[in-house]
Amino acid sequence: MKKIMLAAMASAMLALPAAAEQAATYIHAGRLLADPASGRVETNKTIVVEGGKVSAIRDGFVGEGAVVDLRDAFVMPGFIDSHVHLTFESGPTSRLDAVTKSATDQAFDGVVFAKRTVRAGFTTVVDLGSETEAINGLRDAIATGKVVGPRIIAAGGVAAHGGHGDIHGYRQEILDLFRAKTLCSGADDCARAVRLAVQQGADIIKTASTGGVMSNTAAGLGQQMSDAELVAIVETAHRLGRKVAAHAHGTDGVNAALRAGVDSVEHGTYIDPESIRLFKAKGSYLVPTLLAGHTVSEQAETADWMPDAVRAKARTVGPLMVDALRRAHEGGVKIAFGTDSAVSKHGENAREFALMVEAGLTPLDTIRAATVWAATHVGLENEIGTLGTGKAADIVAVRADPLTDVRALETMAFVMKGGAVVRAADE
Ligand SMILES: [Zn+2]
Repeated sequence: MKKIMLAAMASAMLALPAAAEQAATYIHAGRLLADPASGRVETNKTIVVEGGKVSAIRDGFVGEGAVVDLRDAFVMPGFIDSHVHLTFESGPTSRLDAVTKSATDQAFDGVVFAKRTVRAGFTTVVDLGSETEAINGLRDAIATGKVVGPRIIAAGGVAAHGGHGDIHGYRQEILDLFRAKTLCSGADDCARAVRLAVQQGADIIKTASTGGVMSNTAAGLGQQMSDAELVAIVETAHRLGRKVAAHAHGTDGVNAALRAGVDSVEHGTYIDPESIRLFKAKGSYLVPTLLAGHTVSEQAETADWMPDAVRAKARTVGPLMVDALRRAHEGGVKIAFGTDSAVSKHGENAREFALMVEAGLTPLDTIRAATVWAATHVGLENEIGTLGTGKAADIVAVRADPLTDVRALETMAFVMKGGAVVRAADE
């Protein structure tokens, strides 16, 4: 009886969308970077895809029937964006959207943004803050093949009352209505908030140890959560098997988050030598989000909808973030690719690659950050981030050589996610 139940469960877990259940697909790759860690580019290979996974990689161009011709393309594992917000996009009306759009409205917006994201080559994303019901519903609808989009690792947000992560700039009655129940004050309350976030379906915990650029308050970018609160968040999350990503700009808040043991620091604008030492001692990742810095610096000069409290912060951070990544990378800090898309437009995630090259990474290192390094950061290195037998058939291709010109990654020629084509080679 037990055996039968287990077998039934296993086959239920293996159920895949119809597209992936068809017979083998043969992808003819002119140039193939199967394992970005090695950096080895092979020529004239066939990737055999069956049941949503890579079943073999063969020499030469073999196979008949479902053949994808990428003989003149550069083929890689699908990209991972470790920092997006899929259910909204910043713009003139977005502050109002937060209090006027229902969870259903936001989920439908997310359907549109998810499709743009996966068609841009990002087959996995970490959503670090969206409306909870909306993002969990979208995550599950994509996972069961009902909606086209990237694999989503969805965060629950646990942050300080009145800090970044809370809502600002409305009258009190509105704030009381919309304030998330996973905001907290004090260590015990923050442990409660983490537990509630996990109960609500969070795959990962997002916290904010410092102020944020886009929160409509002049509270600055320094530390907002106490050391004790951060420790409580990390300990509680880890006990429940969840990683913690900490939004942090100011040096004090970056270092407090690292001391508390967060798994990643998002942004890291004002990192100092002590931060770099802590990153390495703790094995934490930096997720640089240069595209967000770039976008808000631009908007600070051109967008009349930007609140003054936001504008002042936005002017400063863009250029600082590029320099922070340069120092972190030179110092040997582990980097995972992340854009904070929603600040920039969904589907333009690949613009981050060129900004990372500006910060001194090689094009190959930027691809590593978006594949193998990010896969390890999210704990899915056995499934995604490289192409090999048994790995997910998350496969992208571009026509030009991205190792020569990284901006080639901004124009996708082909995208497959879990064996299903989401951007065909002849589109
Ligand atoms: Zn963000």
